[in-house]
Amino acid sequence: MSTAIVVGGGIGGLATALALTRRGWSVEVLERTPELTEVGSGISLWSNALRALDALGVGSPVRAQAVEDVSAGVRDARGRRLARTDVATLRERFGAPVVVHRAALLEILRAALPEDTVRTGIAVSSADPDGSVTHSAGVSTADLVVGADGLNSVVRRAVCGEVRARYAGYTAWRAVVELPEKLTEFGETWGRGARFGMAPLADGRVYCFAVYNAPEHAPGTFAEVRDRFAGWHHPIPALLAAADPNAVLHNDIYDIPALPSFTAGRIALLGDAAHAMTPNLGQGGCQALEDAVVLARLAAEPDGLARYDRERRPRTRMIATRSARIGTIGQLSAAPLVALRDNVLRLVPASLSLRAMGEVLDWTC
Ligand SMILES: Cc1cc2nc3c(=O)[nH]c(=O)nc-3n(C[C@H](O)[C@H](O)[C@H](O)COP(=O)(O)OP(=O)(O)OC[C@H]3O[C@@H](n4cnc5c(N)ncnc54)[C@H](O)[C@@H]3O)c2cc1C
Repeated sequence: MSTAIVVGGGIGGLATALALTRRGWSVEVLERTPELTEVGSGISLWSNALRALDALGVGSPVRAQAVEDVSAGVRDARGRRLARTDVATLRERFGAPVVVHRAALLEILRAALPEDTVRTGIAVSSADPDGSVTHSAGVSTADLVVGADGLNSVVRRAVCGEVRARYAGYTAWRAVVELPEKLTEFGETWGRGARFGMAPLADGRVYCFAVYNAPEHAPGTFAEVRDRFAGWHHPIPALLAAADPNAVLHNDIYDIPALPSFTAGRIALLGDAAHAMTPNLGQGGCQALEDAVVLARLAAEPDGLARYDRERRPRTRMIATRSARIGTIGQLSAAPLVALRDNVLRLVPASLSLRAMGEVLDWTC
């Protein structure tokens, strides 16, 4: 039986472990945190990711968390409609996206794995293309080593040396909150140098995020976030008021430059370790799920890792580039440029936006 060590027990790592296990591999996941947890945040999973989850046999429990009858689109800070997503056509053409709590997604993936696949509390310090992995409990070797250890991957060093993450110029706060009223909109609000997003979750709570331009590592407090969005349209101030400041997530936004390769010897990189991207298209995790399915399909084939690299690198680069571009437009702050942007958004037909999404959402395993 072929063996694999997966470094990192995030979405990408667990999905890869599941994909390889289903193809008969013996897999061990090494995760540095003492427990597999994801707090205070949702994640949008688009139709491409849902197809990957179907291939892993866990599409149904994820789809069961879909919220039906939502509208979607972009508003300005006063609540005026800038763009509307044609949800019916989106659903018909590609399948509707599902927004889930991250903890629920991780639990669905973990529960589908054989017991004892995941070893928590093991920090990996280095990997070698010969298949050996050095970690806090010793050294392990395998036929395949998967670097699914995120933005600041240590496994990546063995593939392409030190790679510096690039700060995008904006910072994000995320929360999952309860609102007394039912939210039926899945959308974003674009202001000057700031954006807000919200999506209802199946359990009635709301996943929301606030993004604004800021220097890297600026500390910021949640009280400042509430102040910054205080004049924005309903229910934004209410959502921020309802959020527990101790349970919000605060992250500066980064991506990494294009890597020359995703593989070296027995190592394959995947997810954020390979292509950390800005979250403007909601595709980072979705791409990690695609990676997992493709890697498991090819890993045992002759020349399989080279084929994985050829299949995944151009696609993820295309999506990362688009995502960064949307971030630049969404974070514009000069008033004349914002006015121009908003006018253009009002004029773009919903059918054109859907067509542009096609290349991303159309993916099949
Ligand atoms: C604000 C924000 C919003 C986002 N929204 C979306 C969205 O809506 N949809 C979407 O698809 N994506 C979204 N993303 C992107 C998505 O979160 C990531 O792309 C995804 O989590 C990547 O998964 P991963 O498994 O590759 O990496 P990670 O989730 O970073 O997991 C890496 C794992 O490896 C572990 N690890 C790290 N180093 C080591 C080590 N040395 N040894 C052992 N273990 C280690 C970590 O503890 C972690 O568990 C968003 C990102 C941000 C910042």
